[in-house]
Amino acid sequence: MYLSAPDVGPLERDYLLRAFDSGWIAPAGPDLTAFESDIAAITGWPGAVALSSGTAALHLALLGCGVGPGDDVLVSTFTFAASANAINYCGANPVFVDSDATSWNMSAALLAEAIDRGRRAGRLPKAAVVVDLYGQTADYDAIAPLLAEHGIALIEDAAEALGATYKDRPAGALGDVGVFSFNGNKIMTTSGGGVFVSPDADAADRVRYLATQARQPAVHYEHTDIGFNYRLSNLLAALGRAQLERLPQMSKRRLEINQQYRDVLSDVDGLTFMPVPEWSGWNGWLTCVVLDDTTTRDAIVAALDAADIESRPLWKPMHLQPVFAGAPVVEDGTSQDLFEHGLCLPSGSILSESDVARVADIVASTVRSRP
Ligand SMILES: *Cc1c(COP(=O)(O)O)cnc(C)c1O
Repeated sequence: MYLSAPDVGPLERDYLLRAFDSGWIAPAGPDLTAFESDIAAITGWPGAVALSSGTAALHLALLGCGVGPGDDVLVSTFTFAASANAINYCGANPVFVDSDATSWNMSAALLAEAIDRGRRAGRLPKAAVVVDLYGQTADYDAIAPLLAEHGIALIEDAAEALGATYKDRPAGALGDVGVFSFNGNKIMTTSGGGVFVSPDADAADRVRYLATQARQPAVHYEHTDIGFNYRLSNLLAALGRAQLERLPQMSKRRLEINQQYRDVLSDVDGLTFMPVPEWSGWNGWLTCVVLDDTTTRDAIVAALDAADIESRPLWKPMHLQPVFAGAPVVEDGTSQDLFEHGLCLPSGSILSESDVARVADIVASTVRSRP
């Protein structure tokens, strides 16, 4: 049993084969255009560019915000490596910021401290990549004004948060620009893909141009910029359109799975669930728990593994990753503590009630068998 397996069926098959039969195989086509308008409709913004991955979307979002060699870019330390890697692709330097305990996302207080440090050193960061972890948004009303005050661009890494909300505003549209991922383990998938979103249609066109090898409109392919081959194919966009139709249903199923875990595990001693603040409309992506005792957490991982069930500790913070050793960080131990005690449980929308019951049972009995 996997943590978050793709959930595809007859609708996806139908859309994919229709695109195939239409002859629009690659690169662009009507499904790509329609998929982009569907995503744009979710954000309420006019600009959406479908790309080969969420990482590619982050890379172009950073370039679009003018990030270049030698710049500093603030980024959540508690995240998947792609958030920080994209900063390095631009020749820029990540400056890591720790989480708060209420949402597990970037702490506004520590962000203020990081900005202040940069200001005093005469190195104001150019942009900030704020991550919506595990399908839950960060506290944008606290974070956005701190960045706006210093003209620092806010890139929302909503790779895990499609369909989530912040005070009824849609994830992805909470910063200056946003990105989503459709990797195989996300809440919906195109088997691999991502999208860049923007309130500025011209900025989106610029990203679309960079993503298609920066070809100027001339028959001989005139080039005035370094481009990328980052576009999503029409076939995969067709798959994405079917997934988008089913997104509300898939998110609902993940939330039901979370409720089932809560029903069984809420009274287990030393185990708590990821907090969901009242402003957060969580999409249910992954059910995450925290164990008071690290060795109990490790025992659960081992017991699930023995039953062929995938589970995974919470993200290892980037400031603790060897590849980012020495990078500046403003931290207070929150994400390190979550990494040492936290666990993601199987949460895919294809899981049945008996699958979830089996996982919950192993978790509960492992905790209870501990001395
Ligand atoms: C998955 C993910 C990405 C990268 O998306 P890909 O489509 O896999 O390239 C970026 N940031 C976060 C937080 C992610 O979870």
